[in-house]
Amino acid sequence: MKFATKAIHLGHDPKAHQRAVMPPVYQTSAFAFDHVGEALPFSYARGGTPTRAALEDCLAGLENARHGLAFSSGMAAIDAVLRATLKPGDTVVAQADCYGGAYRLLTRLLQPAGVKVVFADLSDPASLPALLDGSVKLVWLESPSNPLLNLVDIAALAAIAHAAGVRVAVDNTFATPYLQNPLDLDADVVVHSATKYLGGHSDVLLGLVALDDEALFRDIRLVQLSAGAVPGPQDCFLVLRGIKTLALRMERHCDNAERVADFLLGQPSVEKVFFPGLPDHPQHALAKRQQRRFGGIVSFYLRDDSREAASRVAERLRLFALAESLGGVESLVNHSATMSHGSLPPEKRRELGIREGLLRLSLGIEDVDDLLDDLAQALA
Ligand SMILES: *Cc1c(COP(=O)(O)O)cnc(C)c1O
Repeated sequence: MKFATKAIHLGHDPKAHQRAVMPPVYQTSAFAFDHVGEALPFSYARGGTPTRAALEDCLAGLENARHGLAFSSGMAAIDAVLRATLKPGDTVVAQADCYGGAYRLLTRLLQPAGVKVVFADLSDPASLPALLDGSVKLVWLESPSNPLLNLVDIAALAAIAHAAGVRVAVDNTFATPYLQNPLDLDADVVVHSATKYLGGHSDVLLGLVALDDEALFRDIRLVQLSAGAVPGPQDCFLVLRGIKTLALRMERHCDNAERVADFLLGQPSVEKVFFPGLPDHPQHALAKRQQRRFGGIVSFYLRDDSREAASRVAERLRLFALAESLGGVESLVNHSATMSHGSLPPEKRRELGIREGLLRLSLGIEDVDDLLDDLAQALA
């Protein structure tokens, strides 16, 4: 089955749900037994509901994985993967420009709990072997990364990590399973903030994990059940509904991003444009090989690298709301230094190139002519 068909049909069989064409929202905390000791597919909602199972199965299918697991947020999904793979004394090698929330979780919660965290620039896979001493148990990747859209070569890094017996996790939020399937590139586990493109309508917070490995699945499932950071059925329903149009939406997000990136290149007030689809992007060739298209996010440096200049542009935009998050049908603008990466120390931001004059656009699915007009008046 092709992607768009899977997105609509996987995870739900109307015959199992009173012929309901759409997966029903099982708004119940418990399921009634006939007999003491009976083995039911669902018994208590923390362990699972039919609505959550439909979402978990659908995501697994889209990531070409055997198992899917849903969490109450992307961060809860990341936390579960880290807890299932790392114990005190272990080391995780994490991509230096990983999501700000992942950075905070690693440095503020895992490090004090005795896990060693090594941040590394993994844009050249040849830098990985030197980092893999015997204590490393996990390599944490994110491609493309936020907000500068750097890519890493997932297949090359996975081959190196596996040769040393180390697992590889990929945060696939920006690419979505429509553009990239990390398990097909030999990663061990994929996480998503479904809050973004999978939900797609900026109305739900949810996280997802997909993987093949049975033992790791059982360990992550144990965290899901024991810690209980699970999504409610209404939230699962919203993400299932969002996924049904993911293929259509992603095509439009990508079209709009390509047009906007080209437009920004010609703006005198713009110093530099970050977009994997541009031929001068340092990993453009990798992007063509590793992804189906280039994604819906474009970032840029203003020539005037001040918070005031960034603020002026963001406030003049009429169609782009100044907001955290991304991946919805509506276009958004983000000031990374104060918003998505506000939790990073200033010197870390400088090191990563997250300047005051950096703005990140999440291109929605509006008519691109209106978006270009809006950008033109805001940058003038
Ligand atoms: C938003 C985001 C997360 C965190 O997801 P939440 O649903 O907000 O908890 C993780 N990784 C990336 C790349 C994100 O953009």
